[in-house]
Amino acid sequence: MSDASLQPEDAGSRYALFLDFDGTLVDIVERPDAVVVDQELPATLARLQDRLGGALAIVSGRPVSFLDPRFLPYRFDTAGLHGLEQRIAGQLHLCDPEEHPQLRRMIGRLSEAVADKQGVLIEDKGCSVAVHWRMAPQEKDFALAMAHAAVESLGGEYRLQHGKAVAEILPSAAGKGKVIERFMHEAPYKGRIPIFVGDDLTDEHGFKTVNARNGLSVRIGAGETIAKIRLGTPADLRHCLSSWASDGSFPFNVDD
Ligand SMILES: [Mg+2]
Repeated sequence: MSDASLQPEDAGSRYALFLDFDGTLVDIVERPDAVVVDQELPATLARLQDRLGGALAIVSGRPVSFLDPRFLPYRFDTAGLHGLEQRIAGQLHLCDPEEHPQLRRMIGRLSEAVADKQGVLIEDKGCSVAVHWRMAPQEKDFALAMAHAAVESLGGEYRLQHGKAVAEILPSAAGKGKVIERFMHEAPYKGRIPIFVGDDLTDEHGFKTVNARNGLSVRIGAGETIAKIRLGTPADLRHCLSSWASDGSFPFNVDD
């Protein structure tokens, strides 16, 4: 089946679009806080959101509070922290770090443990914590062993999510597949065909959910994946989204 034959208005009314942030909409950078959003991107996404009847959401491991300022003056539906935080049709539900006292204590211990490990970063996200070693690849084994030990000592309520030069400890209930499924039960997403674009291991959960719904899964970059379509880089995706937003030409062809 080729979706390329769909009329633009059909594509607009049929689909719900879910977009990962790092490595998908923007290039990955060494320090996670130094990420740069292309100047055109917020307006492009706003036009696309209109075209999709509002059914467009950012689905990221970042907190909503980090993502929101990067898309000003617009405010998109968002799943932050792998779905622990959600804003659907303007209604925001945040995660309360006080509900995770064990994790909070663990974050303190992790920060102490890496104090003398240059280039290993502990990113405190409130209800989750990421261990980054992009700037110190030689510390990968140390960082992974530390993250594994931390999850084990926390018990079954937390799990480890692997990524690109990062491992994240997050509540077991969190996951991109679960949160996409949650969005698909709410207006304006309900009844549409989901498309999810991502680049990393954490996004494979999302691909599984959209594949199960006969949607389109799109992987950015190399690596093993269950996604149906592959694009080269975030810039390629931005180009696709820009033409879809401006003239309605549907950018994904499953026959490619
Ligand atoms: Mg990503």
